[in-house]
Amino acid sequence: MRFVEVSPGQIDVRDGPRPGVSAGWGRVRVEACGVCGTDLHLFEGMRLPRGVAYPVRPGHEVAGVLLDGGDDRVGPGDRVVLHPVLPCGACAACAAGRENQCRTAGVLGIDHAGGLADEIAWPTARIVPVPGVPPERAAVLPDAVASAHHALRLTALPRGGSLTVVGAGGVGAHVLQLARVLDPDARLTAVVRSTGTADRIERLGLGVAVVGGGLDGAARRVLEASGPQDAVVEYGAGAAAAAEALPMLARGGRLVLGSVGEDELVLGTTLTTLVTRELRILGSYASTLADLEAVAELVLAGRLDLSESVSHLVPLAEAERAIRLLAERPPGLARVVVTP
Ligand SMILES: [Zn+2]
Ligand SMILES: [Zn+2]
Repeated sequence: MRFVEVSPGQIDVRDGPRPGVSAGWGRVRVEACGVCGTDLHLFEGMRLPRGVAYPVRPGHEVAGVLLDGGDDRVGPGDRVVLHPVLPCGACAACAAGRENQCRTAGVLGIDHAGGLADEIAWPTARIVPVPGVPPERAAVLPDAVASAHHALRLTALPRGGSLTVVGAGGVGAHVLQLARVLDPDARLTAVVRSTGTADRIERLGLGVAVVGGGLDGAARRVLEASGPQDAVVEYGAGAAAAAEALPMLARGGRLVLGSVGEDELVLGTTLTTLVTRELRILGSYASTLADLEAVAELVLAGRLDLSESVSHLVPLAEAERAIRLLAERPPGLARVVVTP
């Protein structure tokens, strides 16, 4: 079978043996695998976690068909998606249901051979059935949609509450979509940079789109258009978004940050403002299996439309082009999905 191997500055498609399976694991024939920032960072030579060395077999956003293995939920022949994180199941974080905080968790496409391949092996317990969902759309669920669901949960948005997403491109747009699906009365606002993204937000029937070249003035524009916000979610806008986002918050409001980066977080506010208004700042990291199951259920029920989520389909042989697309960011870029 074919698989992709990445080292700093190099991407190769190679041939090798099919993956072996241990007890409780199943083999999946990959039908679609999304690529995202992590895959680009690998290509750019990001520092790897302890115990992992280049070359890495990337790809953590997998949809396919289960070939063998299974349990009472899922069996051979089923279309499935894979939760990309493999927690230990025994530590305090895992016991508390915060498996995405498990310190020894393995990640698909870094610690374990990933989904930019013809076949892949993964524990059945981390596999979720999605019968009838087209694979290229299903591949958006494990990361871009499940992570959005996780961030939305952390906002603790009240019924009919107001939510602004700063950086409503890929994951951010899914935060808005999920908020609308889960509460038709939620009042939603998007802060986007390009008219292309603004058009996409509007096609999805989602709230106001505030268009700006930079983030300067975003707080003022959101307050004018939509008033104080119960929650603000940042995705892809980076550290600079925090200082713009905090003034948008109503008393007791929550700012949920989803971007990772080494830039210093400058809040641009005072202790008094933060304390007297009881504002909360939280990070949202990846997702849990429960998040993936929740979004899979919404898609299966026909409540979540992912037809706008994928912009590029690329064959496995051209995996390098798929990853380069992320660096080039052509206009209209949503998810890039590789189809073996
Ligand atoms: Zn991803
Ligand atoms: Zn654990």
